[in-house]
Amino acid sequence: MKGDKKKKTIKTIKIDVDKCNGCRACEVACSAFHAAPKYSSNNPARSRIRVIRDPLADIYVPVYAGEYTPSECAGRDKYTIDGKEYDECSFCRASCPSRDEFKEPDSGLPLKCDMCEGEEEPLCVKWCLADALIYEQREEEVEEEEKLEELETGMESLANKYGLQKIMDTVARMSQKD
Ligand code: SF4
Ligand code: SF4
Repeated sequence: MKGDKKKKTIKTIKIDVDKCNGCRACEVACSAFHAAPKYSSNNPARSRIRVIRDPLADIYVPVYAGEYTPSECAGRDKYTIDGKEYDECSFCRASCPSRDEFKEPDSGLPLKCDMCEGEEEPLCVKWCLADALIYEQREEEVEEEEKLEELETGMESLANKYGLQKIMDTVARMSQKD
């Protein structure tokens, strides 16, 4: 069933690889912003944006940390763009077992870009003086029924964890109490 419409803010960072010069200021800014306490240190290995670099081939690809995945890809993509051949995984945002990117160096826990929650503009964008990163926000109307999808996703993970029968028994017991 479709519900009321509601506004959702979509945040995007447009990446222009042709403008990126590989200076890594974005990595420094991101790691400093996420240091504890804030700005107390910087270490690009803790950054949620990494610049995949191959200076001899003039290849610089800023990549944002996305979702964690526990398994490696069975197949890989290989891109050639404007005559430049990019390494496998160059454009991938996942924190995965195949490579060191997007892992907290001390704990090994996955890192994920949070768009600098609470800031007007992401720090990596602010410090990219080459304008390779452009921040955009837009509003989109979405159906309220997304909440139902979220509920379904939550129920599915509970069912995976405890078993469907146990969840159904619990719900039946709760409804009898009412
Ligand atoms: S948007 Fe913020 S959290 Fe994401 S990579 Fe840029 S500086 Fe890091
Ligand atoms: S700050 Fe900008 S130009 Fe420098 S490496 Fe990052 S994306 Fe590229």
